[in-house]
Amino acid sequence: MSTIETITLPNGKTYEQPTGLFINNEFVKSQDGKKFPVENPSTEKQITEVYEAGEADVELAVEAAEAAFDDWGFGDSTHRGRLLNDLADKIEEHAETLASIESLNNGKPLSLARIDVQLSADCIRNYGGWANKIYGDVVDSGSGYFNYIRREPIGVCGQVIPWNFPLLMFAWKIGPALAAGNTIVLKTAESTPLSALYAAKLAQEVGFPAGVLNIVSGYGKTGQYITSHMRIKKIAFTGSTATGRHVMRAAAASNLKKVTLELGGKSPNIVFEDADLDKAVEFANLGIYFNSGEVCCAGSRIYVQEGIYDTFLEKLKARAEKNVVGDPFDENTFQGPQTSRIQLDRILQYIEDGIQGGAKVITGGKRVDREGYFVHPTIFADVTEDMKIVKEEIFGPVVTITKFKNVEDVIKLANDTEYGLAAGIHTNDINKAIHVANKIRAGTIWVNTYNDFHHNVPFGGFNQSGIGRELGKEGIMEAYTQPKSVRIKLDI
Ligand code: NAD
Ligand code: MN
Repeated sequence: MSTIETITLPNGKTYEQPTGLFINNEFVKSQDGKKFPVENPSTEKQITEVYEAGEADVELAVEAAEAAFDDWGFGDSTHRGRLLNDLADKIEEHAETLASIESLNNGKPLSLARIDVQLSADCIRNYGGWANKIYGDVVDSGSGYFNYIRREPIGVCGQVIPWNFPLLMFAWKIGPALAAGNTIVLKTAESTPLSALYAAKLAQEVGFPAGVLNIVSGYGKTGQYITSHMRIKKIAFTGSTATGRHVMRAAAASNLKKVTLELGGKSPNIVFEDADLDKAVEFANLGIYFNSGEVCCAGSRIYVQEGIYDTFLEKLKARAEKNVVGDPFDENTFQGPQTSRIQLDRILQYIEDGIQGGAKVITGGKRVDREGYFVHPTIFADVTEDMKIVKEEIFGPVVTITKFKNVEDVIKLANDTEYGLAAGIHTNDINKAIHVANKIRAGTIWVNTYNDFHHNVPFGGFNQSGIGRELGKEGIMEAYTQPKSVRIKLDI
């Protein structure tokens, strides 16, 4: 059996999909030959099977990454940057195929998958530019000393990514880690392994040295081999807060590898009476329904000031009902299916819970009557702040709306959460915007916009939403380099 399969896309085009583990620059079968199925969430049908990494496979990947580290991490940094730029070019060349893979496997609309692909190339290109601009410091520490500080790569990094933005999370992880000179063993999510394997083939084509980038497919078990490995020096994880705890525990119990976590959220999206109402509705809609609500920073708690509450609710309902839910390969589609049956069931359970608890369904509240894991955009009103649907991350197209009186009120409501990933503020009063932005305990505050990213802007969580930052300067200098102080005593 080979490790490449020809796959036919819904538009009739075919492409070559690697299905092996990517270790030491080759696509290989797993040691025990085990595979697992990959599904199309729009049809509930199997797309293909990919090889599953066991402990022995992770070991081989780590060995390859270790062997590659010295030359890569302490070699020519301009060369590292050039390769990352070449990979970004390749991703752009193959954009349509990559976007199609993403739509097929994750279910996101093709029109939005194309944006993910461009953002992925942008991110890798941005960090390619950093590769030869990493430098340390010389500090004054007394005239009897010469003291300099190097910024060195950490070594072999483990990276575990989720299924909601399979290619983009791959790019956020590998871009800064490779630019800074680390080598990688990355695990994709079990439901969406395909786009990263395809990108690995592109990395192979542009000539990355063997072992620099290794990609293993598998479930949580494979992730555990990485998080508990004794010679992996850092773990970067994106996913649920519950799994984040496991990751940190495994790091502590093994070799105290460094940990960065990008976890869940329950982000407030606040609309003041003085906001541009139609724009606020637009960003509230985008804030929750973008990517089927499978977004860690989704604006899943909407707070609306009392004077505009009724009008806003009416407008948001009308807007939500205009979202085209359906086939991701249809250019008009805005919302595809949830990515897996597990997620669908989880979301329906939350909806049931909301209804049982006495919340009012304004629109949606059920599965779409067709094959695939589609859920109608859902709005809950008449909620109380202690309800599960207000407290817990649903990770689907389900939003709650709460009325508030004034600035002090809404700051309290917004901060009443264990999370702290993001928040939205909609107002035309700059003083109010800055005051509220200062008071909200979250890593990202969006004013008059939402789900709005840039590769120079660090992203990450306060509280239980995570540790560390991705993107921007922090996303490479803090996350993927470590300072080394060299203190020389002068003989004077
Ligand atoms: P998860 O956190 O369990 O999975 C994320 C990744 O971690 C996957 O690659 C998975 O295989 C891996 N993993 C699972 N258990 C592991 C372990 N013990 N050690 C190492 N790696 C492990 O998320 P999930 O179960 O797919 O989804 C559950 C919920 O998580 C969702 O409903 C959502 O609320 C949240 N989530 C958040 C994000 C985010 O971007 N912050 C992404 C995905 C899911
Ligand atoms: Mn899980």
